[in-house]
Amino acid sequence: MAASRPAAPCRILVVEDEPAISDIVSTALRYQGHTVTQAHSGSAGLERGLNEAFDLVVLDVMLPGIDGYEICTRLRAADCFSPVLFLTARDETDDRIKGFVTGGDDYMTKPFSVDELVLRAAAILRRTGNEAPSDALVLENLMLDPSGHEVRRAGELIELSPTEFRLLHYLMVNAGAVVSKAQILVNVWDYDYDGSENVVELYIGYLRRKIDAGHSPLIHTKRGVGYVLRAAD
Ligand code: CA
Repeated sequence: MAASRPAAPCRILVVEDEPAISDIVSTALRYQGHTVTQAHSGSAGLERGLNEAFDLVVLDVMLPGIDGYEICTRLRAADCFSPVLFLTARDETDDRIKGFVTGGDDYMTKPFSVDELVLRAAAILRRTGNEAPSDALVLENLMLDPSGHEVRRAGELIELSPTEFRLLHYLMVNAGAVVSKAQILVNVWDYDYDGSENVVELYIGYLRRKIDAGHSPLIHTKRGVGYVLRAAD
């Protein structure tokens, strides 16, 4: 298995009164390495949000007592600017929620896919700079240093464009796992990028020319599925 490490763990608050949904969401986020705090009512959620620092708040809109909008409003009024990912039922999605969804925040309509929630949470954390790894990622003789914004293969410095760098970083964080073009688009490009998945193919091609030329290839295509970064067999 690759000697890469996951992105830095984040602190996430999940405010949701339905225990089943709260548990599924929290389990999925913990599986990503994050520390998750669960609150099952509006007042409990507000209390935690006001008194602890979170990198992300997953906030149900319909809560007993104080609803999600009110919690978000009060957090902002208290100078707490943790990004908020709203959970809302389809018929609650109105202009108010769109008003909140600015500056890196997002919302999801129930029923939602937990996989998509994890991807959207990762996109928010990445956009807000809360998911920056603290150390270099290494696979074989390929090294990516996020803080120094530097990539080397066999010690040789490789110049990458910002998009190529983000793509390689995503592949390295997920080294050994096949990632689909859709996952790559969500994590490397903004989630609202509405272009074709062909752009992923194009940039994989650019990366291959820069990373793999003259070496044993690390970027592998799983036809019909996606891509995987791993050492040659
Ligand atoms: Ca609810």
